Amino acid sequence: MDLKHLMDLPADQEKAMPVLFIGHGSPMNGIEDNEFSQTWKSLGKTIPTPKAVLCVSAHWLTQGTSVTAMAYPRTIHDFGGFPQALYQVKYPAPGSPDLAAETKKIIRKTTVQLDHEWGLDHGTWTVVRHMYPGARIPVLQLSIDFYKTPEYHYSLAADLQSLRKRGVLIIGSGNMVHNLGMVAWNKLSEPDYGYDWAIEMNSIFKEKIMDGDHQSLIHYQNLNKAAKLAIPTPDHYYPLLYTLGLKTKNDPVRFFNDKLVGGSLTMTGVQLG
Ligand code: ZN
Repeated sequence: MDLKHLMDLPADQEKAMPVLFIGHGSPMNGIEDNEFSQTWKSLGKTIPTPKAVLCVSAHWLTQGTSVTAMAYPRTIHDFGGFPQALYQVKYPAPGSPDLAAETKKIIRKTTVQLDHEWGLDHGTWTVVRHMYPGARIPVLQLSIDFYKTPEYHYSLAADLQSLRKRGVLIIGSGNMVHNLGMVAWNKLSEPDYGYDWAIEMNSIFKEKIMDGDHQSLIHYQNLNKAAKLAIPTPDHYYPLLYTLGLKTKNDPVRFFNDKLVGGSLTMTGVQLG
């Protein structure tokens, strides 16, 4: 797809695209028609159609920051032990070498690498294929430098602000509460089942996001004891900091898929703008 029109667009011509944080949960959401995937599907219809999607996935952790720069990113099946049907899914959205180059240019925080190896991991495609089933909109990924601090990720995100006015939908894809070691496997089919600490943290996260108290969310380790259970490792939390780092004061905040799964996961998503 020729993205010249995207790059030529004056930065103030368009209303800024919303920014999303999406709780992606199990890879099975990629092929299941359930309440979560139905919400993603309707999001794709209700927000303005983007010219491209840039996703920060919890599943691409690197040293340094990279952006996918290939014309045709592959579908990565980065999980084990799931039904064969999930491994057969391909999401053939194009990439955009032009937008990758532009993304590298506008990020001042670090020198971004143009990547030709990665593709679309399940943090991206399990969600985006429901939003844009036609796979015609270019999709790129930005990696998470796992050697950097939460503050770093939050402030790097701000460098991406101009893309919103160029029709790019930026998505952080992770899970706010994400403790796989404590999943109650026998409660997976019980809707909205959550441990007390997970319910508490889901409320605290929403309250802080609503209040714009991003400093508390950046310094999540100081929040309370439950935060350590909700975020045993920060991989699925950092995408939220990218989303919040893009909030402007005029962006309204809306939550969706505000549910717990298996006791120790939340599917809660955030729309800004
Ligand atoms: Zn995940």
